Amino acid sequence: MILAKGLVEAPVLDALFDITPLPRIEHALRALENPAVQKAMMESGTRMRQLARSEDEQRAIANSSPVNYRRFYVSCVAIGLVLRYNASAPYEWWAFVAANSKPSKKACKFCAEMRIVRAAREMRVMCIGGLLVLGERQPDARSGKLRNTLNPCPQCRDMMKHPDNRYLFRQRTLIMTSMPESQVQYMETLTKMYAAHGEQW
Ligand SMILES: [Zn+2]
Repeated sequence: MILAKGLVEAPVLDALFDITPLPRIEHALRALENPAVQKAMMESGTRMRQLARSEDEQRAIANSSPVNYRRFYVSCVAIGLVLRYNASAPYEWWAFVAANSKPSKKACKFCAEMRIVRAAREMRVMCIGGLLVLGERQPDARSGKLRNTLNPCPQCRDMMKHPDNRYLFRQRTLIMTSMPESQVQYMETLTKMYAAHGEQW
């Protein structure tokens, strides 16, 4: 079987196919508990941050404006299922990796999580079972909470639970958060992550 060779997502898809080539919703919701999937997501997320950083390094050499003026690089990896309309194999694994951008102080930021949701909608994803957010921690702009790892920002939290996007997630969707180059990883449900900011999922 040839699986998306060369894509940043390739190791994640490989690990997901190792769980089962015929995934069901329950597999998608539990996939992030699998150590091989966690490892592959960390690998792809780390790679995406490196790609974003080297893009800006190249731009600096070429004297062109950066994608990320603060050099605050965040990557997000999502895993889930796409509907296939095939009775014997109704779902197919989906993995997507994205980085954030904010070209200048005045420019609107576009978060990795926003790109994940946009891609999921475009690719007819019906369930996101797990998310990884990888970035340096900072106090939350709305709740003021400084957690041990970086959480999705207030705009992303609002965007994810917006009625247009909520169908992508489940009560049990897991979110793993980690500092770059750190051994510490946090895993919780979206419900718990929102609660940590005094918000309801
Ligand atoms: Zn955000």
